[in-house]
Amino acid sequence: MAIALFPGSFDPPTYGHLNIIERARTIFDKIDVVIAVNKSKKYLFSEDERLLMMKELVSGWDNVSVHTSNRLIVDYAHENNASVLLRGVRNFSDFSYEFDLSLLNKGLASDIETVFLPTDPEFFVLRSSSIKELAAFNGDISKMVPPLVEKAIKKKYGIEK
Ligand code: ADP
Repeated sequence: MAIALFPGSFDPPTYGHLNIIERARTIFDKIDVVIAVNKSKKYLFSEDERLLMMKELVSGWDNVSVHTSNRLIVDYAHENNASVLLRGVRNFSDFSYEFDLSLLNKGLASDIETVFLPTDPEFFVLRSSSIKELAAFNGDISKMVPPLVEKAIKKKYGIEK
């Protein structure tokens, strides 16, 4: 059974993330979305908020689970019998960063493979950080994130829908 982890901040989840999960779940037996909890990083959404949003968004997909973790991703993988780290790639600068990260992880755990999935073209501009920035200026993010995420972002910024 091939279990793939999809690690990331997901602050917040976007249609780009969901597209990667939806496609990957037909390739691997199980996908575990692992939401990073890093005390030195500043997130807009708390660990619990990101977990609840992602759980709700993948609830229709029976082979997808969601957890939070503050551990090294390769340690988490070993503990959970996962053999693949799944990462989405939008462009060359993503690839360059992701490639370095994959070598780092390979050095830490040679039994775990990183698999890159290129974004579907319609999602290639979607980035959590720009979506938050756009939302802060009351820009239209309805095509970038699911309605429950849009509502949550607007609530954070005190913007009524
Ligand atoms: P991180 O904080 O680790 O960059 P993110 O939450 O931004 O994590 O993203 C998690 C994963 O999803 C990363 O592999 C990232 O490249 C990928 N990803 C994010 N947005 C998109 C998108 N629009 N299309 C494809 N992959 C994406």
